[in-house]
Amino acid sequence: MIVVMDFGASEEEIGEVEERIKSFGYDVHHFNGEPRAVLGIIGSPGEDTRDALEVMPSVERVIPVSLPFILASREFKKDKTIFEAGGVEIGGEKIVLIAGPCAVEGKEPFLRAAEAVKKGGADILRGGAYKPRTSPYSFQGLEEEGLKIMAEAREITGLPIITEVTDQHSVEIVARYVDIIQVGARNMQNFTLLKELGQVDKPVLIKRGMAATIEEWLMAAEYLLSNGNHRVILCERGIRTFETYTRNTLDISAVPIVKDLSHLPVFVDPSHGTGKWKCVPSMSLAAVAAGADGLLIEVHPSPKEALCDGLQSLVPEKFSQLKASIRGVAQAVGRIL
Ligand code: PEP
Ligand code: MN
Repeated sequence: MIVVMDFGASEEEIGEVEERIKSFGYDVHHFNGEPRAVLGIIGSPGEDTRDALEVMPSVERVIPVSLPFILASREFKKDKTIFEAGGVEIGGEKIVLIAGPCAVEGKEPFLRAAEAVKKGGADILRGGAYKPRTSPYSFQGLEEEGLKIMAEAREITGLPIITEVTDQHSVEIVARYVDIIQVGARNMQNFTLLKELGQVDKPVLIKRGMAATIEEWLMAAEYLLSNGNHRVILCERGIRTFETYTRNTLDISAVPIVKDLSHLPVFVDPSHGTGKWKCVPSMSLAAVAAGADGLLIEVHPSPKEALCDGLQSLVPEKFSQLKASIRGVAQAVGRIL
């Protein structure tokens, strides 16, 4: 971190800032430049230290040099992170497909959907048991009953399961049933939830918040890592922009950026990212071309009857066709499917 002193700061003022830096336990280098002095801090102080220095009257500004997401960054770990989740390798050469309906609507429809995505070539089965709905009058999910249905679907299909947890009180029960825990866009900055999930022995997929910058998203992942959970998947799912034709604007450019900044695997959710099933195939190909390690796709055997997100759900046949077309793009970018 670099502290730029005010133009004309006196030796005494510079000395006071040096003392303040040392009081936080850091060494300091004094560059007596013209027209300003500059102080270089040895180490990576946090935001609080930065603010405490910037507030000093003789300080012009403080410039961080290191990235604020320490554990999530490539500076900390050069090689990409590869781990196992429910028997599936995440972040390796193979593109991982997560598929299933938005919500677990009941036993019979979910088992039908599970069989269909298994047949279509999914690696992991998704389904929502706790649904974060915009309206309190919309279907809220079957909760533990939904988790039991998902566990039964895993028994039948052999596919590992992922579901969203919406608050810290449900972490224990969700972790008991599923192989991967999902943090939804609306909860990306629920730090109490993230701290709790940091201590759980299950991988976590964390969606990008709909109004979150890439840095905020990586800081959210940092909460999981710094609390002890190193099996973290980042999932781009579109951000809110002025555009209204699509539900969200899928930020494909976030993929190469995050892959560069971080060693963590990056997935893309083109279903929530666009809100339109017709956009899902092309955005899936684009995501793989951009370097995504996996896709999260909503699939429903009968989208017109779906209780949630039918407009963006692929029918199983379209999902199978999509898998076949992804293969070519995956090969072109040196991946397998
Ligand atoms: C979901 O995956 O079902 C979901 C609610 O997604 P998001 O948090 O991205 O809106
Ligand atoms: Mn959904």
